Amino acid sequence: MKKAYITMMLCAVLLMACATSPTGRHQLMLVSEDSAIAASKEAYVEMLKPYAQKGKIDNDPALLKRVDEITGRLIAQAIKMRPETQKWDWSIKIIDDPEVVNAWAMAGGKMALYTGLIDKIKPTDDELAQVLGHEISHALAKHSAEKMSVAMASSIGVLAVGVAADNKGLALGGAALAAALAVEKPNSRAAESEADRIGIELAAKAGYDPRAAITLWQKMAKVGGQGPPQFLSTHPSPANREKKLAEYVPEMMPYYEQKGARPVYKLQSN
Ligand SMILES: [Zn+2]
Repeated sequence: MKKAYITMMLCAVLLMACATSPTGRHQLMLVSEDSAIAASKEAYVEMLKPYAQKGKIDNDPALLKRVDEITGRLIAQAIKMRPETQKWDWSIKIIDDPEVVNAWAMAGGKMALYTGLIDKIKPTDDELAQVLGHEISHALAKHSAEKMSVAMASSIGVLAVGVAADNKGLALGGAALAAALAVEKPNSRAAESEADRIGIELAAKAGYDPRAAITLWQKMAKVGGQGPPQFLSTHPSPANREKKLAEYVPEMMPYYEQKGARPVYKLQSN
């Protein structure tokens, strides 16, 4: 409630900076989506560089084929939902880190998936489609631009950005640095609910079983090891997540059960 109030107040002060999300929620938008996309493009290259230098971008052909097929089917549906995203430079990279159970998406459809999520969750294709559909939904609903805006709006955030810059050695400044840090910041629970709702629909329309959304989060909660998976800390649980997802299932089943092949967006292989 308090957070919503602060957002409303900030929106009132910064009249120009307000937007409305697909589910009708007020969003603080100091950063336009176009600048968030440009900043994310720069941040993405810089964030992947250390992995590429260490040979840690996974090129296993079977895994790449599987991830590209699922992602391509989801993106085709995302473009139907928001046609202007056709011009986005969509991309997904698999980062070889068996300890990191995570995936993320930046503004403009720049995504990453860590091998730890594959190794530890052992998702079925239907479950992996829920992860990636959820991530794509964060980008579709402009959540990364929103997170960047919140960080830049508070002086503490600006200070934190400076400190993090010293610690991370990322050759990024300003908006690009905010974009890089945004993937590590937790989404709000309201943003999580939106991504759950949009994600399950994208996945069902792409031909993936909506019931897998429930088993995915169950598996995620059961992952052991040192602390909870990174994915859970950046994707906090909205109230009654599993119950709400289960309520969406009947509405999603007809999309899933539709006959015929689903369109696949062709991802660039670079
Ligand atoms: Zn999320």
